[in-house]
Amino acid sequence: MELKKRDNLLPYGKQWLDEADIEAVHQVLRGDFITQGPAIQAFEQKVAEYSGAKYGVAFCNGTAALHGACFAAQIGPRDEVITTPLTFLASSNCVLYQGGIPVFADILPDTYNIDPEQIKAKLTSSTKAVIPVDFSGQPVEIDRIMDIAKDHNLIVIQDAAHSLGAEYKGKKIGAWADMTMFSFHPVKHITTGEGGMIVTDSELFYKRLLQFRNHGMTRDPEEVRSNEGPWYYEMQTLGYNYRMTDIQAALGISQMDKLDKFVEKRRMLADLYEQKLSKIPGVILPHQHKDALSSWHLYVVRFTSEFGTLNRKEIFEALRAMNVGVNVHYIPVYLQPYYRELGYNKGICPNAEAYYENAITLPLFPGMEEEDVEYVVECIKKISLHARDEG
Ligand SMILES: *Cc1c(COP(=O)(O)O)cnc(C)c1O
Repeated sequence: MELKKRDNLLPYGKQWLDEADIEAVHQVLRGDFITQGPAIQAFEQKVAEYSGAKYGVAFCNGTAALHGACFAAQIGPRDEVITTPLTFLASSNCVLYQGGIPVFADILPDTYNIDPEQIKAKLTSSTKAVIPVDFSGQPVEIDRIMDIAKDHNLIVIQDAAHSLGAEYKGKKIGAWADMTMFSFHPVKHITTGEGGMIVTDSELFYKRLLQFRNHGMTRDPEEVRSNEGPWYYEMQTLGYNYRMTDIQAALGISQMDKLDKFVEKRRMLADLYEQKLSKIPGVILPHQHKDALSSWHLYVVRFTSEFGTLNRKEIFEALRAMNVGVNVHYIPVYLQPYYRELGYNKGICPNAEAYYENAITLPLFPGMEEEDVEYVVECIKKISLHARDEG
């Protein structure tokens, strides 16, 4: 049977919005506060509670939230922070913003998450923090990383942009690290358009994050050094305007009501991909660590020579030609020209570089249907047969 090309592009990720979301935003627009109002705290509490942390601090995006976390961890010039190269640029850029030095530790070849042994290998007397990333939604071995951090007096900032709703050893992501970052970009689990949050159990970090988000200012009578009157405010540190609006927070609150359903749907679609793709030779499926329960932000497959003669670029282009919105996550960060100019060289993390050679991200989002998964799989099969014919 001939496979008919679909009319529109199936994106790799997409937000899910419903009437309740639209109504929630309308209510804020009709109310008194569109920023710095009560929706912010309500959203912060909802996310913190869900993820098992005491405090939440909302930011205008996840990158700003990571910057805030590095500030709160007091990362400064010459401090080294260990992170993974297999991540979005923001996970290490946030260290550079603070004048610190990102140090890249290689990934495990099966889960693609940072290798705790490689973290140990990269420790120096200047190491101040670790930023592990739950790649594709699968949690890192956060218990082992917390143990290393405890032994060496490090702060752990978990980049959980991919893993809202995921669990490790039965406990939600957000309840493990010193600070945990979530992103609410439209391709992530819930969206506020742009948005991010740090959750933490530490009152100290919480207070630093609040100040950093708001120009380094405070009005808290317990924090100010003097008090000249009811108008009085103090800038005690150099902060930014990294605030989220109430419009976004209202959307976030409404989206949180659907989070468990979103995650459930993603898990169902990932299962379906696994069932159907496992029959095709030369396709490496995502491996799951026994203690990790992924919330499936991304579904990444890799292609070996068994798949046929086509290389990754040709497979990628063939899928795009069939209107399958594939993507590649990620180019190892230190291979970027900016990082190369800072002195990072090819070869630092061989596993991440090998991964990058043959990985492709397939579409996965809650609005996808089973037929969409079947279509993607049929396209891959067709390309595989084609690859065989020519080989
Ligand atoms: C999306 C993402 C971020 C940044 O989030 P934004 O909200 O887009 O700024 C950081 N780290 C990872 C791994 C991400 O995927």
